[in-house]
Amino acid sequence: MKMVAEIVRKGGSILGEPCKVCNGIQVKFKERVFCVVHEDVKKILEEPELTLENVSANLKEILLSKIKEISFLLSNEQDIEKQEKYTSLLIQYYELLKELKGQ
Ligand SMILES: [Zn+2]
Repeated sequence: MKMVAEIVRKGGSILGEPCKVCNGIQVKFKERVFCVVHEDVKKILEEPELTLENVSANLKEILLSKIKEISFLLSNEQDIEKQEKYTSLLIQYYELLKELKGQ
């Protein structure tokens, strides 16, 4: 029951209808309905919120590591066609990164 209190404290609400699977208490949290008995409530509570801020922070990290990777590949590449591919990728990553930074 500690979990139920935690969910309510975080802004969730207890639903009147019991779980169809196990008859346990159902709660609504961030527009999701789940059962506190048979579902992994802890995981749901720990899930980072899907906000624009979180998504772009995550994306920034991915882009930076990709830029690093591609730069490394590019520095060792002799094939002109591959260089072209890498360069156009770098431009795209960089543009996206700039856009994210502008937010
Ligand atoms: Zn259940």
